[in-house]
Amino acid sequence: VKTIFSGIQPSGTLTLGNYLGAMRQFVQLQEEHHCYFCIVDQHAITVPQDPKTLKQNIRSLAALYVASGIDPEKATLFIQSEVPAHTELGWMLQSIAYMGELERMTQFKDKSEGRKAVSSALFTYPTLMAADILLYQANIVPVGDDQTQHLELTRDVAERFNKRFGETFVIPEIRIPDVGARIMSLQDPVKKMSKSDENARGYISMLDTPKQMEKKIKSAVTDSEGIVKFDKENKPGVSNLMTIYASCTGESIETMEKNFSNKGYGDFKSAVADAVLETIEPIQNRYNELIDSKELDDILTKGAEKANKVALKTLQKAKKKMGLLR
Ligand code: ATP
Ligand code: MG
Repeated sequence: VKTIFSGIQPSGTLTLGNYLGAMRQFVQLQEEHHCYFCIVDQHAITVPQDPKTLKQNIRSLAALYVASGIDPEKATLFIQSEVPAHTELGWMLQSIAYMGELERMTQFKDKSEGRKAVSSALFTYPTLMAADILLYQANIVPVGDDQTQHLELTRDVAERFNKRFGETFVIPEIRIPDVGARIMSLQDPVKKMSKSDENARGYISMLDTPKQMEKKIKSAVTDSEGIVKFDKENKPGVSNLMTIYASCTGESIETMEKNFSNKGYGDFKSAVADAVLETIEPIQNRYNELIDSKELDDILTKGAEKANKVALKTLQKAKKKMGLLR
C-alpha cells in the first residue's frame, strides 16, 4: 500500500482535462492506496480571485470530487487552507529552493506572461506544492503531464532537505495516465485545456449543460483535410478530439480511425459530444444532490481533521530537524 497525494485548484470549474488527466485516476487509486486529495485554495490565490466566486468554486470542487467517485470512507478529502501546516512547511521549503530553480518553471512563465502585476506567490507556488506532497510522505503523485516539472522540483527540494538535515521526507514519484495526460484547448489545440482560460469555449467544464458542451465540441478548431486521423504535429485539433473520445470510451485510436474512415468531421464531432456527455452526466446528477448538502460539510470537516493530524506530525519533524522550536 502506497501513500498518494494530489490537489486541484478551485481556480474555476473543473474541466474535462482535469477529470481525464487527474481526477479519474484518483478514483482508481483510492481502492488500493492511502489517499489524500486536496482542494488547493492557497494555490488558487496566486492569481487574482474574486472572494465570492472563490468560495463557490471551493465548494463546487469538493462536490465534484465526491460526485466523480472519491469515497470519503476510503480517501481523505480536504481544503488546503484548513490545514495550516501546508503554508508553514511551504515557507520553510522556500529556504531550501533556489531562485534559479523557480525561475525555470514553465508554469510561472506561462501564467505571468502578459500580466502587469505578478504576485510573488505565483513565483513560489512550486514550494507550496512541494509542501502539500511532502507533508503526507506521499510515494505517488497522480497528475497531468503539465506538472512534471513541479514534481521534479519537489523531489530535488526533498532530497536537498534530507541531505542537509537528515532523513525527513519520502521522495515522491509522479504518475501520469497513458491516455489523457494532456487534453488540449478546443480553440487553440497547441495549448493545454485550462480551467482558468479566459475563453470559456476553450474548455469543457464538468458543469456545462449538454447544449453548451455540444456547441463547444462542434466549434472546436480542426483543419480542412476532413480525415479523422491521429497526427499530433499536423492535426492537433482532430488528435485532441480523438484523445478525448478515446479517454471517454476506452476505444483505441486505430479502431477510431477505421470506424470514422469514411465519415466527415461533423459526424465525428457528434460522436465525441455523445461520449463526453455520457461520461459527465452521471457526475452532474450526483453533484446536484451534494452541492447544498450537509453531507458535503461533514466530509470536509472530517477530512481536515485527519489531514491535520498527519501533516502536523511531519511539520514538527521538519521543524526539529531545522533547529526551529524550543
Ligand atoms: P489553472 O488554469 O488554474 O492552472 P488547471 O486546469 O491547470 O487550472 P490545476 O488545478 O492547475 O488545473 O490542475 C489540477 C490537475 O489537473 C493537475 O494534476 C494537472 O496536471 C491536471 N491537468 C490540468 N490541465 C490538464 C489538461 N489539460 N489535461 C490533463 N490534465 C490536466
Ligand atoms: Mg494548472
